[in-house]
Amino acid sequence: MPLVRYRKVAILGYRSVGKTSLAHQFVEGEFLEGYDPTVENTYSKTVTLGKDEFHLHLVDTAGQDEYSILPYSLIIGVHGYVLVYSVTSLRSFQIVKNLYQKLHEGHGKTRLSVLLVGNKADLSPEREVQAVEGKKLAESWGAMFMESSARDNQLTQDVFIKVIQEIARVENSYGRQ
Ligand code: GDP
Repeated sequence: MPLVRYRKVAILGYRSVGKTSLAHQFVEGEFLEGYDPTVENTYSKTVTLGKDEFHLHLVDTAGQDEYSILPYSLIIGVHGYVLVYSVTSLRSFQIVKNLYQKLHEGHGKTRLSVLLVGNKADLSPEREVQAVEGKKLAESWGAMFMESSARDNQLTQDVFIKVIQEIARVENSYGRQ
């Protein structure tokens, strides 16, 4: 019997960057136009990667700005983070920098499993943040980076597969399973 590992992942970022749309596309396989602003929602999905099975528990948060205080429930017991900005919003890019700082302070010396995601890549004409800037920021954190679109099922699957892989990479670098 394969071992089923539990993974809790929080999706953080400024409002309207597509956090709910990504979670919904990942779990339900569809894109919803004009979704209601999220209060806080959780989603579950079992993901098989090679021989391993993961029970992924996603926390879709209400959205943060520079004044938000991250509650303990988003620090303790969370295995990994998807930090989302929209490539069409420079402000949302500033907010993820801020959020990373807060996570870093909250976690102390523990290494963080973070995937930085530039969402709404399908809206290229309205772009305010170039891919190279996202890549550079993620590199400065030692984190992974990708651009995505919640309209695209495959890209959205890749987001959550990547964060599971990132959690495994950080855990293995600590020499534990
Ligand atoms: P949240 O507040 O971060 O959870 O953002 P939502 O998921 O509610 O999305 C905000 C708006 O952006 C909604 O109207 C979505 O339909 C739209 N949206 C989300 N992701 C994408 C995307 O990748 N591409 C496009 N074109 N629109 C998106």
